[in-house]
This record gives sequence, structure tokens and C-alpha cells, in this order.
Amino acid sequence: MDLSDNTNLFGAPPSADRVLREEGFLKLSRYPGGYAPDLKRAVARYAGVAVENVTTGCGSDDVIDCALRAFLEPGDVVAFPDPTFVMVPMFARLSALKPVPVPLRAGSDLDLDVEGLLATGAKLIYVCTPNNPTGTVASRAALERLVDQARGVVLIDQAYVEFTRGGDFLDLARTRPNVLVTRTMSKAFGLAGLRVGWGVGAPSLVAEVEKARGPYKHTTLGEAVAVSALTEDVPWMEACAAEAVENRERLRGGLRALGLEPLPSEGNFLLVPVPEARRVGEALRERNVNVRVFEGLTGVGDALRIGCGPWPLMSSALK
Ligand code: PMP
Repeated sequence: MDLSDNTNLFGAPPSADRVLREEGFLKLSRYPGGYAPDLKRAVARYAGVAVENVTTGCGSDDVIDCALRAFLEPGDVVAFPDPTFVMVPMFARLSALKPVPVPLRAGSDLDLDVEGLLATGAKLIYVCTPNNPTGTVASRAALERLVDQARGVVLIDQAYVEFTRGGDFLDLARTRPNVLVTRTMSKAFGLAGLRVGWGVGAPSLVAEVEKARGPYKHTTLGEAVAVSALTEDVPWMEACAAEAVENRERLRGGLRALGLEPLPSEGNFLLVPVPEARRVGEALRERNVNVRVFEGLTGVGDALRIGCGPWPLMSSALK
């Protein structure tokens, strides 16, 4: 049972099967469009923006990596709340940037430390909401203040937005010149294996990311399936997400009954502080339940992150 990577545990979207069977083989011998024109059109329709507002990449990882390289020079600071998505400091270091973590505010909401992030003077501030691994969300007030006062770009990673109530910040990407929102087909849309992600922002911002992106980021199959999923499988995706959220709250109840206190989450996962998380994680693995172990997270300490999906899979984490 792999509950470690926050993917869609219900599986891949229904249209993927048809596209792969009917078109997959034919598409293999051809190159995709260099800058993913079909995918960009589908994303633009889905997100309610123009094609010029859309960039895409080999997973949203890649969109984030390209954005860091587009807006920053070696030695520049990239600031981000801590804890957050582990790839961000890794990408920063790979591009010779200076990662500067700023602890999330103490307290139960773990909101952004806006002043702390601004004080870094970073030309790019990364914010993940809902945040991986905490599951907590940035408040709109804090995020808008950050966007208004930031010296440069605010990259809002919304890999888990489909699981939130009202935590969607695409409107900021549509209306503010310095906001890039990244999204992925890997989580709610059930297509992690395809490696398709996208970003939305002002055309001038997107044009800069595209310069750092380079052509041919997608396979023909990946692009075709992502297009069909965005066009045909939104109701399926929404039903999976709703069930994952319902089961997340059910799991929270079960864990609290065991005396644990999971963080409030708006993702498809729960972060559960537990002492000696490594040992507990190993004990769960021996029972064939794979969860993500974190040690010494800032403000949290040791914790397990448990992915949520169909209840029969999740209930094994409680046994
Ligand atoms: N952002 C966050 C917060 C994530 O958790 C992940 C995946 N773990 C990603 C981005 C990257 O996802 P992908 O590259 O598959 O789009």
C-alpha cells in the first residue's frame, strides 16, 4: 500500500485508456509540438485564461525549476516558507541560487510570515498552498499582502488546489503582473506517470519562463492524455477529490482517537506529528503500508505524511 506520494489512489482518469488504445501507437512515431500547443489550449480553456497566459513543463517540478532559472541569476536568493516542498531548495542549489527558508508562523494555522519573507529581499518568493508537507493553507490576506509588497515574482504552487475549500489563487495569476501559479496533472488528475504540469501568469511573465523552458518537454502520449483528461475527466477528478477529502477527515478522526493530532489539511494527505517517526514508519512498512517519514521538520518535529484516497487502502494505516 503506497500512501507516500500524494498521488490519486483511485487511479488514472477514464479517458486515458481510450486515448492510449486508439491513438497511442500512431502518435509514437511523431514529435509533439515543440511548445505543447494542444496542451496549452486545453489548459487555457480549463483555467479560463488565454493561451498566452500558459506555460507547461515535464511535471510542475519542471515549471518551478524553469521559473527559478528564468527570474534569478546565480547567487540570487529564493525565499520560501519552511517547511515546504523539498524540491525547491534542491532546484535552487542546482542552479547556484541561495535558498532562504523562512519558518511558517507558529500557531495552529501555520500561515505565512509575510514580513519575514519580504525581509529576505528575494526576487522570487515561492509559496506552496495547500502546503506540502503540512497540508495547511496560506490565508488570502497574507498572500495578497505578499504579492503587493514583493520585490519580484511570487510563485504560488497549487499542486493540491483541487482538494481545498476556496483556496484557489488562479485569480491572482490572472490579475497581478508578478504572480505565477503552478498546477499539476500528477495529483487529483491521476497522471503522475505522464509528467505534465503547467503554470499560469501574465503573458510577459510566461514568456520569460518559456525562454528558460526549451521545446519538447512532453511526449506525444503525455500531451494527448493530459488534453483528454482536462477536457473530459473533470467530473471524475472532482469525484475522486471529494472522496479523498471525506476520507481524509475520517482518517483524522481515527488518528485522534489514537491520541494523535494531525495538522489541519486541505490537501489529499495528513501530516501527523509522531515522536520517532522513522521507527513508526518502518513498523508500518513491515505491515506493507508505505507512508512518508519526516524528521525534525521546523515547528513540527518528527511526522508522518499519509496520502488519502479510497478508504480500504487508508484504513490499513490505522491498524
Ligand atoms: N509541488 C508540490 C507541492 C508537490 O508536492 C509536487 C509533487 N510531489 C510537485 C509540485 C511536483 O509534481 P509534478 O512534478 O509531478 O507535477
